[in-house]
Amino acid sequence: MTECWLWPRVNNHGYGRVNWFGKPRYTHRVIAAMTYGAASIHNMDVMHLCDSKACWRPDHLRPATTQENMIDYWTKKKAAAARSRAAAYQGVTYG
Ligand SMILES: [Zn+2]
Repeated sequence: MTECWLWPRVNNHGYGRVNWFGKPRYTHRVIAAMTYGAASIHNMDVMHLCDSKACWRPDHLRPATTQENMIDYWTKKKAAAARSRAAAYQGVTYG
């Protein structure tokens, strides 16, 4: 994956924030609206393919349904948990 572009101003949850037309918005949603069109993300989540919440790099973002986003989140969380279990019990490390 290419290098993330991290937005310097983040909220308490680590998401980039920006004022857009005078209103506070999530940076990744503003960028996704500019990249994919506002209609493409209307009622949609914007998923970070890189899992960096502060990232606003257009090719790291894609519109996704909340369900897709949650599946992606839990799949990665389970994979990470499995990796740490393997590492803890078997001395396995991943690159
Ligand atoms: Zn990124």
